Amino acid sequence: MSTKKRFLLVNPYACDFACYDYWLKPLGLLYISSILKSYGHETVMVDCLHRRAGPQEYGKGRLDSQETIKPGALKTYPRKYSNYGIFGEKLYNILKRIKTPDMILLSTSMTYWYPAAAETARILRDVFPGVKIAAGGTYITLCPGHARENIDADYFFEGAELRGFFDFIGENYMPFNQWPSPDYSCYETLDYAVTRTSAGCARGCPYCGISRIWKGFFTRKPGDITEEFNYYYSLGIRDMAFYDDALLENPFLLESLGSLPGKIRIHTPNGINPRLIDWTTADLLKKSCFLNPVIAADTLGSAGRPKNSKKEIERAAESLYRAGYRRGEISAYLIMGLPGHSLQDFLKEAVFLNKLGIRVLIAEYAVVPGCGYDEIIAPEVLNEPLLHNNSIFPCIDEGRENISAIKVEIARRNNSLSK
Ligand code: SF4
Repeated sequence: MSTKKRFLLVNPYACDFACYDYWLKPLGLLYISSILKSYGHETVMVDCLHRRAGPQEYGKGRLDSQETIKPGALKTYPRKYSNYGIFGEKLYNILKRIKTPDMILLSTSMTYWYPAAAETARILRDVFPGVKIAAGGTYITLCPGHARENIDADYFFEGAELRGFFDFIGENYMPFNQWPSPDYSCYETLDYAVTRTSAGCARGCPYCGISRIWKGFFTRKPGDITEEFNYYYSLGIRDMAFYDDALLENPFLLESLGSLPGKIRIHTPNGINPRLIDWTTADLLKKSCFLNPVIAADTLGSAGRPKNSKKEIERAAESLYRAGYRRGEISAYLIMGLPGHSLQDFLKEAVFLNKLGIRVLIAEYAVVPGCGYDEIIAPEVLNEPLLHNNSIFPCIDEGRENISAIKVEIARRNNSLSK
């Protein structure tokens, strides 16, 4: 039997050219909090990206921000660079009111936010000298060597399955399908909740780091999902976002959807696989209140690198329309700035989607080291996480004016679908 401990869980703030609370929650840390509590430990959470301003639409909204000095590697990019969330003095004040914990767990996310994670670790050291810090999350997993050089932590955990973590806390390993629901008790106000019905994805797209984060595909039981939704509904939550990487691949999903409370709007910020949207699925999505379902089109082969075929997208759109969605009520992610994919290729694919009545959501390509493009991305970009930033379009060289012009054109075409 392990000694019960008090853990402080911290989700750092962000530093970027832009950052918005687009159903942004540190889901991994929320699961860890629940798991620790299930073993009898005490947890306190500080989520530096919890928004204080009210919601704008479906729970989303703007984060507090303050312009800051750009790090050297980004000096030449002519855009305002800011800290987002809770940082500096405010963060110090929050931490100083917390009783000294036995252990600190620090999560990390975007690789190019590492200066904020490093500064958060430094502040934690300052406020809680002598308390051990364990760091994990996406940046630690994708850039393990860089993270060890830049984050002042005592332990580092790679991957999202928490394998080494259970040994570390002296508890038995608990696989994903046994994890309790995420623990939202740290939030005084909650405009939405996020969850997963599954984790991981087997498709291995060259621009994606999921297979480095989850070593397999894992699912939760339908009853657990229904119970979780009923609980959120009882808390007054009316917007839920699924963080699944391959939502429709979960064989239990459709079964779960049929028994949801029905009045919670469901959002799909990670997109859904068009290949799996037939009429039965589309009908269930519509009946289960999936709002503006987002198809993960990603790339359609203009540069000889198809992720999805145009036929699959057409079939998915037809099924969704037949289920009751109207033109302009479905969207698709399209990745802009992939290596070897010109803006003109991108625009052609966007026009194809718009003609089907699909709004195009531009997914700006961020470099993911250790994936399929390592050979063609310059080493100085791969090795400096600040240069992974999607806002600077690290893998294309077509000029900021041209990028802006394409964005304006896409916005114009999207708007015309709403009329
Ligand atoms: S991009 Fe989507 S489909 Fe491709 S590997 Fe990642 S999660 Fe899977």
